[in-house]
Amino acid sequence: MIPSLRKTRIIATLGPVSETSERLRELMQAGVNIFRLNMSHAHHDTIRKVVPMIRQIAQELGLVVGILMDTQGPAVRTGDLPSKFELKVGDILEFTVRGAQSEETYSVNVNYDGLIDDISEGDVMLVDNGVLHLKVLSKQNNRIRCEVLTPGPLGSRRHINLPGVRVNLPPLTEKDIADVILGCELEVDFIALSFCREANDILEMKRLIEKNHGTARVIAKIEDQSAVKFIEEIIEATDAVMIARGDLGVECPMEELPIIQRRIMKKTIQLGRPVIVATHLLESMIENPVPTRAEITDVANAVFEQADAIMLSGETTVGKYPVECVRVMDRVARRIERSGYAAYAKQTELENEHQKTTRAGVSLANSLPDSALVVFTSRGFMADYASQLRPQTAPIFAITSSEIVARQLILNWGTHPIVASTDQGTKQIFSDVEEILLKRSLVEKGNSLVILSDLEEGDKNVDSIELRKI
Ligand code: PGA
Ligand code: MN
Repeated sequence: MIPSLRKTRIIATLGPVSETSERLRELMQAGVNIFRLNMSHAHHDTIRKVVPMIRQIAQELGLVVGILMDTQGPAVRTGDLPSKFELKVGDILEFTVRGAQSEETYSVNVNYDGLIDDISEGDVMLVDNGVLHLKVLSKQNNRIRCEVLTPGPLGSRRHINLPGVRVNLPPLTEKDIADVILGCELEVDFIALSFCREANDILEMKRLIEKNHGTARVIAKIEDQSAVKFIEEIIEATDAVMIARGDLGVECPMEELPIIQRRIMKKTIQLGRPVIVATHLLESMIENPVPTRAEITDVANAVFEQADAIMLSGETTVGKYPVECVRVMDRVARRIERSGYAAYAKQTELENEHQKTTRAGVSLANSLPDSALVVFTSRGFMADYASQLRPQTAPIFAITSSEIVARQLILNWGTHPIVASTDQGTKQIFSDVEEILLKRSLVEKGNSLVILSDLEEGDKNVDSIELRKI
């Protein structure tokens, strides 16, 4: 028997309850594969401390753990508040732009001057994931006077949704550019672009990363109507996709959300990019030690549809049970992975010969009980292809000499990256890898290994498929 390894990856967002070294260790041991730094909230000095901390602990634990920097993007946000406003129905709140001053008890500035032009008297504004509703009473002198329709707290840097409005902010704001430069310096593995609106936004992000000698793979966050409209060209341009349901569920009619989620999932898998399902998967566990039945079913649905990763946000930034959340995801994912799957990968389009060779290897592994795929990969592409095809049971062991490539591969469904030197001739490498896999109890004697490689032989790269019994 091949030991069962979880195929769905778990991403945990870092925040006040998860940034200590003890907590990071616990989270990794519970199964976190990637940590997300939310640049809408994180400060540069915290990032500079936490990134090396993650790398250090992962190394001590012998785990490959990725780091995802999530930019704020062209999001309309309220400014900093000294303390939370506890808003009641009927209260007046003023939003100010261009540095205007308000006389009201409750007022906050907004990072987007055009807000005052984009909204009209009588409009209902949605703030903080659509929880807070405010009616626009009047606008003048750069102040937007609103009446509170639903009660609730308003904290710092809350997001204002303007469904269907094309916000006149550049795809990468000055803040984003400064954040990406830091991300490149710290060699983060993924950079997510919030409120990506079209393919060109992704290309711009890629250019910025390249200019700063970064290696990060780019993740397109799909969270408004424009991204949904241009989804195909965005998927083609990006390295991976995040279905950011928090904002998407406010920017689009809520009853459309499940349909949009499934469509993006299918299309992304079909075009061979990793896909992340984000937000509210275990929301109630911010307060409670167990999830609701609906949340379990939501996680199960993402796993059934073979999402590459499922993500925790508030659950691990401010929640009371961050480690338990990871355990719940781990447990549900493992069980559901054994129970069947949607098989969207059957429609995955193969474009080049490497992909076709990989498919032959995956079919071979699918036809052999107790088999594993071993993919030797220098830049990670062949391992990407193997994961895109969603092998039925075989785990994918991706062997690469590059730590950077290994960390990038950790987002991929079913993939277990292993860093090992690959320059001492194929024969030697194969036997070394067999030893590593046996030593780590990842395979047993009698298992079949389907070995895929496109390593250099002399001056050319040769694709090969080899079947070995341990
Ligand atoms: P956020 O993105 O947490 O940065 O808002 C995720 C989402 O909108 O779902
Ligand atoms: Mn969002």
